[in-house]
Amino acid sequence: MSIKIYINGEFFSKEDAKVSVFDHGFLYGDGVFEGIRAYNGKVFRLEEHIDRLYDGAKTIMLNITLSKEEMQEAILETLRKNNLKDAYIRVVVSRGEGDLGLNPLKCPKPNIIIIADKISLYPQEMYENGLRVITAATRRNVPEGVNPQMKSLNYLNNILAKIEANQAGVPEAVMLNVDNFVAECTGDNIFIVKKGKVITPPVHSGILIGVTRNAVLELAEKMGMPVSEETFTRHQLFTADECFLTGTAAEVIPVIEVDGRKIGDGKPGEITRKLIKAFREMVKEEGVEIYPDDN
Ligand code: PMP
Repeated sequence: MSIKIYINGEFFSKEDAKVSVFDHGFLYGDGVFEGIRAYNGKVFRLEEHIDRLYDGAKTIMLNITLSKEEMQEAILETLRKNNLKDAYIRVVVSRGEGDLGLNPLKCPKPNIIIIADKISLYPQEMYENGLRVITAATRRNVPEGVNPQMKSLNYLNNILAKIEANQAGVPEAVMLNVDNFVAECTGDNIFIVKKGKVITPPVHSGILIGVTRNAVLELAEKMGMPVSEETFTRHQLFTADECFLTGTAAEVIPVIEVDGRKIGDGKPGEITRKLIKAFREMVKEEGVEIYPDDN
């Protein structure tokens, strides 16, 4: 059965789900998006994702023509239409159709698109054995430009770094900011563990405030681990005891090597493994019910 895709309140098959080539999302990367997960009939931290989407839209002065409550319902309805309980959900709000100039004033109506599909994950082996990553030469966007706090449709900065990862034959790349501090990866936030302390770069390092990052910070605190948001360098990354990444698609995944340097003893660390387990339990418990009448 073909998936059903939400466009501006209507559902279309994959073949018929189309927007104009004059959409400024296509012409200029003008818009915002979200990646959200559903686990076993519950959407994980849906409100937090919707808030981030609307915050990004606010900064780029894109008026989403649905209220947050209507957006939530549209997402749940898309999951129901596709009979999904475990899913990856992509919400895209583009500036909409305009002319060939870049002026957003020429785009009267945004396009709102929701795609819900089965998820393709990193292979289980990587969760058990960890990832090798590199540092990209491409720097993360400066917050004074396209602020990384917005999940904008302009992902070329991250794609350039992803190309570097591809060239190096590894699945992810660490991105530094223009001050040479570690910011995040192309599609994941980064954490290190040093002497038992769980450390992740602060927002002012120029990062997306990951929903998974927030959940892991909460979990670590609840588990009694010292937690800190602080800047760190590549040197501190190389010499960390443990390293892991967080993201909606990746969840929590260990890193065992950066630029050829083994992290710790080159195996996923104990704190990382504890957090992977705790996160998996958390997503089973928490979330907005897709099929509330089933209970
Ligand atoms: N950083 C970037 C650049 C991302 O694209 C993502 C994925 N959305 C993340 C971090 C992780 O954020 P989240 O945990 O909200 O998926």
